[in-house]
Amino acid sequence: AKEQGRNNYQFYERRFSTSVSARLNLENRLRRALERDEFEVYYQPQVETATGEFVGLEALLRWRDPEHGLVSPDEFVPVAEDSGLIVPIGEWVLRTACRQNQAWRSARLLDVPVAVNLSARQFDEHTLLGTVAAILDETGLPPQRLELELTETLIMRNPELTAELLDAGKRLGILISVDDFGTGYSSLAYLKRFPIDRLKIDRSFIADIETEPDDAAIAQTIIAMAHTLRIDVLAEGVETVAQLRMLRNWQCSAYQGYLCSHPLPTHEMTALLRGLRAA
Ligand code: C2E
Ligand code: CA
Ligand code: CA
Ligand code: CA
Repeated sequence: AKEQGRNNYQFYERRFSTSVSARLNLENRLRRALERDEFEVYYQPQVETATGEFVGLEALLRWRDPEHGLVSPDEFVPVAEDSGLIVPIGEWVLRTACRQNQAWRSARLLDVPVAVNLSARQFDEHTLLGTVAAILDETGLPPQRLELELTETLIMRNPELTAELLDAGKRLGILISVDDFGTGYSSLAYLKRFPIDRLKIDRSFIADIETEPDDAAIAQTIIAMAHTLRIDVLAEGVETVAQLRMLRNWQCSAYQGYLCSHPLPTHEMTALLRGLRAA
């Protein structure tokens, strides 16, 4: 069923060209999707390399389009960002992920942070931290069980605003991670300046660590640097046991990837957690 999902993405990609009318059409469909509750959140485990234990979950947005089936965020997040729709959609993701994480905590199935992706448009809203605080209050999720994922590009776009927002986030008690690390703006000074809890090494650096010495060197260097700066580090897109072994040897503390699990819909994640608890 998951492979079929992948094929559906490709099918969708071909149907929607990038012409202006296609974008407008997609924008209208997204607005309707929000009204009709067609979005879903999938969850992918973040795993400790040393033990295999779940140390976090990433919330990943999906759109169940009645006509085309499951649509990947890569297909619609850019349009949602251009149109500003990502602000209400992102708030919906945040609320849904916090509520679900609190439900898993209450059921004593798992007690780890849920990581939510943030787009630049949400970041620009001066209400962001107020929204986050209100959602934590409303769902009862403790702040240290929420992590916000920001890209380097987002962080560097407006360093003053970023510093202000991240400091406020720290005062609130939430965790902050840098997503797709290594692919964005190359200044590393911000790692010292901003209160960052975790780096997520982009999967483009992980994919070929078995065969490309340069990629292995980059991944190993990022891990070593994170250790020196006392920042937690996670490798994205781990698909093979050999990759996991290398990362473990380099003392990369956590990973995410198909090797452990694809992103799962809520009911499948609940079943997985129940199974783990029973085992
Ligand atoms: P990302 O934040 O880098 O998320 C990781 C992506 O890698 C996810 O794709 C995930 O399914 C995929 N992935 C995980 N493990 C593996 C693996 O072992 N191999 C490979 N090849 N891929 C793996 P997904 O779910 O399609 O999301 C794509 C992007 O869409 C995300 O990249 C993120 O930038 C964006 N996105 C997802 N959800 C949200 C959201 O709620 N808000 C915003 N603003 N962006 C989102
Ligand atoms: Ca992410
Ligand atoms: Ca990423
Ligand atoms: Ca990415």
